[in-house]
Amino acid sequence: METKTGRVLRIEKTSIHDGEGLRTVVFLKGCPLRCKWCSTPESQRSEIEFGYGMDMTAEEIVKEVCKDEVFFFHSGGGVTVSGGEPLTQIEFVRDLLEKCREQGIETAVETSLYAPFEEIRMLLPFLTSMYIDYKVADEARHIFYTGVSNKLIKENLVKVNEAFDGPIHVRIPVIPTVNLFEQNMEDTARFMDPLKQVKDIELLPYHRLGMDTYAKLKRVYELKDIETPPMDEMRKMARVIQETAPRLGVKIKGEPVAPLD
Ligand code: SF4
Repeated sequence: METKTGRVLRIEKTSIHDGEGLRTVVFLKGCPLRCKWCSTPESQRSEIEFGYGMDMTAEEIVKEVCKDEVFFFHSGGGVTVSGGEPLTQIEFVRDLLEKCREQGIETAVETSLYAPFEEIRMLLPFLTSMYIDYKVADEARHIFYTGVSNKLIKENLVKVNEAFDGPIHVRIPVIPTVNLFEQNMEDTARFMDPLKQVKDIELLPYHRLGMDTYAKLKRVYELKDIETPPMDEMRKMARVIQETAPRLGVKIKGEPVAPLD
């Protein structure tokens, strides 16, 4: 019988940035978006290119993940399936998550939610929590900066909020000129506020760490002149979210921001 494989970019161990506790993060290849700031351009195409990518079975990955079980146990961690966009390999991801759960491992997925809802629904029974990368509130800006509309993403967020009973964490890469302005944060917080499974919003300051990879891939990095936002700008954006939707927790790069008085 043919064994199904997934196309994996890499597996990272003991990450503290991709979910609760210590995580093993499985980065998959393939993404339907083309965010101009993408720090992992080598994850975007599903083909193996310039040595980036490998095929693995779900069993092989679970075996690798299980080596870290002792860390999960002590830190409340688990496995996070990320990308690229993991929803581009939906059946493989479902199989992988199911196998991890059979081993008693907590599971999370990090996704932009840009996929048909019927496919996303297949994953929900095998997920402990979800991390949603939400980029820009305004549709025209979203199209300009990512190549796709955010209409489907917003519709899916509303549907996932209804269908999923675990926590949803929203993450926003905060990028000067793209989404670092008050109206964007206010619109985002207003949209998230009624979605009761959404527990918090994490703001991630833009960085240019992927720039060298663009050169390796012989692609142009369009945002090369944009700087990492200063901390006071990040705090200002956090405050807008807190004022608009006080029930939501807010973090800046993993650190909780103190609630408003
Ligand atoms: S969704 Fe993520 S992986 Fe895909 S292009 Fe955007 S930043 Fe890159």
